[in-house]
Amino acid sequence: MKQDQPRPAPRAGIMDIEAYVPGKSTAPAGVAKVYKLSANENPLGPSPKAIEAAREVAAKLDVYPDGSARRLREAIAEVHGLNPANIICSNGSDEILGLLAQTYLAPGDEAVFTEHAFMVYKIYIQAAGAKPVAVKETDERADIDAILAAVTPATRVVFLANPNNPTGTYVPFQEVRRLHAALPKDVLLVLDAAYAEYVRRNDYEAGIELAGSSENVVMTRTFSKLGLGGARVGWMYGPAHIVDAINRIRGPFNVNATAIEAGIAAIRDRAHIERSATHNEKWLAWLSAELTGLGLRVTPSVGNFVLIHFPDGKKHSAAAADDYLSARGYILRRVTGYGFPNALRMSIGTEEANRGVIDALKTFLKS
Ligand SMILES: *Cc1c(COP(=O)(O)O)cnc(C)c1O
Repeated sequence: MKQDQPRPAPRAGIMDIEAYVPGKSTAPAGVAKVYKLSANENPLGPSPKAIEAAREVAAKLDVYPDGSARRLREAIAEVHGLNPANIICSNGSDEILGLLAQTYLAPGDEAVFTEHAFMVYKIYIQAAGAKPVAVKETDERADIDAILAAVTPATRVVFLANPNNPTGTYVPFQEVRRLHAALPKDVLLVLDAAYAEYVRRNDYEAGIELAGSSENVVMTRTFSKLGLGGARVGWMYGPAHIVDAINRIRGPFNVNATAIEAGIAAIRDRAHIERSATHNEKWLAWLSAELTGLGLRVTPSVGNFVLIHFPDGKKHSAAAADDYLSARGYILRRVTGYGFPNALRMSIGTEEANRGVIDALKTFLKS
């Protein structure tokens, strides 16, 4: 229908944004058991202590949460050895990424990220009216020289997912330091360490020290991959002047009461986090080896998921595999929007789910 009546129009650029499409969570009708492996959730579930804390807070849902999430910041600070004044909690780390873009980007500015980077960066950069600059990766990994080459006088922010989603690759911290050292001091470096708890590499660091000792680095973290995706809890650690700026524009009660209490219990439950990381280490290695054994290329991952590449041709394509697996209850993630039209991302699941996917793929590839 033709629009001839005047009506409110979004700001320039908003309608150019392609909305984020989350991983599927349902299987075709008639599938008895569904294994959701599309959102990098924790196959071990939430910490039992977080469940208990969320139950307890339910009776007090009439009361506003503490707007500064002080007790949650203190719990995070205690576990990581940080100053709670340098932490901001958020409604998932997505929210803090958006707040950073809103605070540091304006029309005419540029923000840099890598070609297969987590998709929300581009959305938030565009939402702030700034220009998204995607740079080439090398071997599906962030290329520090390519990032530096893309920096212009208009660059205000660099987003680096380390490790990245959906590739699972990481940049050794020496390389991150090299990036930081070469960046102009007035460019903000955002280190998104959403999968830090899962990384088992000696040359990896999430960025705590760098964020704690620089005026232009922040590190973002999330509870989502540790079992609290539904609660929406994320946080940022960074210099006081950035914390001050963000606190001026964030929602006054951006972290809800359930998220605060579940988050406090979850971060103190180090045993659950350790169990989750140990499960992941074992099954990440197992899946990577099995998939490779089936002749499928797997991008080397240090996260809680693997990116699986399918052969050329229609018969055994990622789309065909996705249909085949979905029909059997295994829900993986299409990643066409990330520049991988012929790959699927699979979250590390329970033993049953992992073995089930491999068995199903064996049959699929023979078909
Ligand atoms: C999952 C994810 C996040 C954030 O998730 P939230 O649920 O909003 O905390 C951030 N960055 C990357 C790279 C992710 O994969």
